Amino acid sequence: MRAGFEIKQSGRNLRVMRNGVCVYGPVTHRADAENMRDKLERTDGHKRRKCMTCADPFMSEGAHNRMCNPCRTRTSADTGSYSFAPRASRRSISR
Ligand SMILES: [Zn+2]
Repeated sequence: MRAGFEIKQSGRNLRVMRNGVCVYGPVTHRADAENMRDKLERTDGHKRRKCMTCADPFMSEGAHNRMCNPCRTRTSADTGSYSFAPRASRRSISR
């Protein structure tokens, strides 16, 4: 489950709230509050995990993210090379 951050306004003051607790503010500019909320939402759920492929520790972006960057790059490069059919064979069939 992902905890949501919300911006609450009271008078001219804006606060970033999480589960009813003020985590930032009060500020008077909405942009400040929105920036901080975005920042908090981006970093929320980031965790140090072990890569499921090479077991190296890395900063995970969340539950969906179980592979370190080198492993993810390698995996997508592998699948990319398999998904491309050779063009020459296709072209030689017609005409
Ligand atoms: Zn890895």
